[in-house]
Amino acid sequence: MVRHSSRIELSQSSLTNNINFIKKKIGNGVKISSVVKANAYGHGIREFVKMAEKAGIRHFATASAFEAEEVLAAKSESSDAMIMGILYDEDIDWAIENGIEFYVFNYARLPLVLESAKRMGKQAQVHIEVETGANRTGMTKGEFPATLSFLKKHAKEIAFKGLCTHFGGAESLSNQFKITMQHERYKNFLKQCKQKKVYPEIRHIACSAAALAYPETVYDMVRIGVAQYGFWPSPDCYYMHLQQIGKQSDSALKRIFTWKTDVMDVRDVNAGEFIGYGTSYQASQNMKVAVMPLGYSNGYPRAQSNSGHVLIKGKKVQIVGLINMNLFMVDVSHIPDVQVGDEVVLVGRQNNNTINISSFSQVTQLLNNEMLSRLPAAIPRKIVK
Ligand SMILES: *Cc1c(COP(=O)(O)O)cnc(C)c1O
Repeated sequence: MVRHSSRIELSQSSLTNNINFIKKKIGNGVKISSVVKANAYGHGIREFVKMAEKAGIRHFATASAFEAEEVLAAKSESSDAMIMGILYDEDIDWAIENGIEFYVFNYARLPLVLESAKRMGKQAQVHIEVETGANRTGMTKGEFPATLSFLKKHAKEIAFKGLCTHFGGAESLSNQFKITMQHERYKNFLKQCKQKKVYPEIRHIACSAAALAYPETVYDMVRIGVAQYGFWPSPDCYYMHLQQIGKQSDSALKRIFTWKTDVMDVRDVNAGEFIGYGTSYQASQNMKVAVMPLGYSNGYPRAQSNSGHVLIKGKKVQIVGLINMNLFMVDVSHIPDVQVGDEVVLVGRQNNNTINISSFSQVTQLLNNEMLSRLPAAIPRKIVK
């Protein structure tokens, strides 16, 4: 097999560290569902599922049936998969047959699930998602009583696996009033379960930010995405953590991801020449540039043109000119002896220097997610220590 233009290394020890940190935060007896939507936030779902199992994870959450199918192919017998988002009617049979748990967020779906469970001769594993204020998916108050009656009546065919909701913006302290309101509404749904004596097996509402910042939102399970990959959900969450432990900085969460490539060519450019497309970069003196074998089609953001950095021989070097579809250039005038084939770090650490994903998006972690989740699935992922 020929080599790809770049590669991603995933650190097992960092992931294990992150999972252990999260476990300690949420306490004993709380299950972690590892959220692996968007190709495990760009890390690579197949490799990541294996690594997470090594770190003790036995539950995986995806956004779609398509992703759940990828989890199914990677996970061991003893792990469960859960679809939080899109499952088409025609795939309900498939989910039930494979024992995959899935969200139901409107009453109309329940009769279809019942029919399918009967047809497959197997119990469906259903999480009822309720609307508490995010107004994306979630069952309304009006549909809930009928839902509970339905679940009570058909408990043999449909397991009431979970009752859940999702916070819209738990990572920002300025949303605290909204999070509190959503939690109160969730408690009301729970109360109705109690009144009707129809109980979910597990209750789960917390994402990374809620699990780390709002202990009262931690029920039987938490759905952890961004934090397991070593990112604080937001500066707010990080500073709250620092306050709790009384420190100036903390490295409790470790990035597990390093993105590498190699120098493709090295060349001299005379003063006055332009580099790459157009005239956006003109050499003001004689310089030496190294050519990188990837560009925006490989997930390297075009916004890095003339401003981003990569690491070569442990030194930070600047991008010169525009990021092309499959190439970009960096200024290596000040680094002696750069050669074709030298390792380049695009994101991560090399010797004593680091390029953070956040430098791509100026600190806001939401954009971290965007950048990560857009990394092409075709880039090979390798698990390292
Ligand atoms: C993405 C997602 C999560 C995980 O969120 P993080 O902030 O990355 O921890 C949890 N629950 C649902 C429903 C999600 O869509």
